[in-house]
Amino acid sequence: MQLLDGKATADSIKKELALAVKLRKEQGKKIPHLAAILVGNDGGSLTYVNAKVKTCDLIGFESTLIRYDDSVPEEILLAKVKSLNEDKSIDGFIVQLPLPKHIDEMKITQAIDPLKDVDGFHPVNIGNMVLDLPGFLPATPAGIVELISRNGIETSGKHCVVLGRSNIVGMPVSIMLARNTTPGNCTVTITHSRTQNLVEICQSADILISAIGRPGFVTKEMVKEGAVVIDVGTTRVEDSTRARGWRLRGDVDFDAVKDKCSFITPVPGGVGPMTIASLMINTLRAMELKGK
Ligand code: NAP
Repeated sequence: MQLLDGKATADSIKKELALAVKLRKEQGKKIPHLAAILVGNDGGSLTYVNAKVKTCDLIGFESTLIRYDDSVPEEILLAKVKSLNEDKSIDGFIVQLPLPKHIDEMKITQAIDPLKDVDGFHPVNIGNMVLDLPGFLPATPAGIVELISRNGIETSGKHCVVLGRSNIVGMPVSIMLARNTTPGNCTVTITHSRTQNLVEICQSADILISAIGRPGFVTKEMVKEGAVVIDVGTTRVEDSTRARGWRLRGDVDFDAVKDKCSFITPVPGGVGPMTIASLMINTLRAMELKGK
């Protein structure tokens, strides 16, 4: 078994990005600027946004964090999105999801200028991804594909089974790996909560990607000998041995499954760091695409 070390892979990407920023500075060019909108005080969202801002600092990007209370009206958020669309100093921005129930997430996503949509969630960018046209790829699926690519894993002709069909992970990663690209050319089976014979389907996977948010759901019997296993799930579970009282757990029963795999991602330290690295790649591209 080889560990698919997302942290180490993301660290190399960050070094490349830091070098690109250094060169731009030397040439007197603009530095990429990422803005993030965070609504409310959810611990998970705050951790993710802080990690994004910290990564900007580390690689030399500028960043702006805009925070609103849970009760912020939808119109205020839409007005902020409009002003960020028009702000020439901002190259790309994200609205951290999930949003409170009274706000229509799709309406907010659709209000973002597709050329600044570095999370890659806008329908225009999803359409570009499907048609393999230039655009921004959603950060987590792009991070998964980059992790596969940078670790020399063959995807062509392989059977890839994806657990979960969400708009941000399961659906886009299925499309990206089925495309006629490298990495890609997989035969993909996308599964969800209504799928029958899930265990048998998983047993035939050369590459198994789980994005369902159910800790330890993927057991040893579901994994084929020599499979590549990518665990996207990150669920907080109680852990009294930690001062904070919890730890992150993936969808895969790591200890039981690891010896059957050729490659496996840890949680944490697998897909999470790659998601942030992809967001940074998209932000640099957002600036370069505008000829800055
Ligand atoms: P989501 O929107 O809640 O979607 C979950 C998907 O899993 C749905 O498609 C659901 O099926 C499917 N599912 C649920 N139970 C299932 C079962 N028993 N068998 C098969 N499929 C089942 O989740 P998400 O936003 O994609 O996130 C999934 C996990 O990834 C979460 O733990 C999240 O925290 C994590 N995540 C991590 C990162 C990262 O950077 N590491 C990024 C994003 C998400 P239905 O469609 O039928 O309901």
